[in-house]
Amino acid sequence: MASIDLHFHSTASDGGLAPDEVVRRAAARDATLLALTDHDCTAGLDAARAAACAAGVDFLDGVEISVTWNERHTIHIVGLGIDPAQAQLSAGLKSIRDGRIERARQMSASLEKAGIRGVFDGAMALAANPEMIGRTHFARHLVQSGEVKDVKTVFRKFLTAGKPGYVPHQWATLDDAVAWIRAAGGMAVIAHPGRYDMGRTLIERLINDFKAAGGEALEVVSGSHSLDDMLRFAIFADKHQLYASAGSDFHAPGEGGRDVGSTTALPPICRPVWDALAARIHRAAANVQE
Ligand code: AMP
Ligand code: MN
Ligand code: MN
Ligand code: MN
Repeated sequence: MASIDLHFHSTASDGGLAPDEVVRRAAARDATLLALTDHDCTAGLDAARAAACAAGVDFLDGVEISVTWNERHTIHIVGLGIDPAQAQLSAGLKSIRDGRIERARQMSASLEKAGIRGVFDGAMALAANPEMIGRTHFARHLVQSGEVKDVKTVFRKFLTAGKPGYVPHQWATLDDAVAWIRAAGGMAVIAHPGRYDMGRTLIERLINDFKAAGGEALEVVSGSHSLDDMLRFAIFADKHQLYASAGSDFHAPGEGGRDVGSTTALPPICRPVWDALAARIHRAAANVQE
């Protein structure tokens, strides 16, 4: 159980390692079940799945969808056990990606007003997949150019609501994101609920809307959760009859947070999401030649 990681990123979105590299890194840390969950994009899954199989690690196809809920809250919905080729899901994800380059131009223009020039080209140069240009690429560029000391500080000073460089954006609706995941045979999971700037009442409204849309799981163990978050959301999952998931949300070596490939055990009251997804797992052993 401690070697399960169902949330991490590759260069297909804003991670720092290629899909096969990040899977090999997780395998070297004794992972037994992995899911790559790039933002709004499934382009890394074939390479990640092949690397998992070669390393003898079970694998779930995953994605992390950007959603605008309740008009102004950006939340993330992970889909696990999806079929990445499913038409409704792939068209939906493309519709989200389509807005990213224009958003990046606006972010760059906004930073220019704050006296920082040339950020669009610098950030683009760091995006292996240009259509997935995002805030993390901007942050890395500002660190590498010596403008700001680390990624965390860039977000605090520039890339969050109300700061120069922040451009509000309309992502997918909650109903659409969950519907695409379900159409592709997957299970929807509310990602890192501890990160949202919401009190108990609002979180419970989000959970109710999510369940009404067909969502079934909550990330209880996350690289961005404190111990207190983990216990709080374990209780929420139990109360609302949601499965519980676990993921590192690893992006790149040296960027803080948990490393990829292992997470802490779920509290015993939780029902693990991987039990409900058994039929969707690509089993490494099934591919081993006798
Ligand atoms: P975007 O989808 O372009 O809005 O970028 C969102 C990504 O930015 C998240 O998935 C994280 O990887 C990263 N991010 C958001 N907030 C922070 C933060 N405070 N510190 C570091 N990275 C962050
Ligand atoms: Mn990210
Ligand atoms: Mn996220
Ligand atoms: Mn993530």
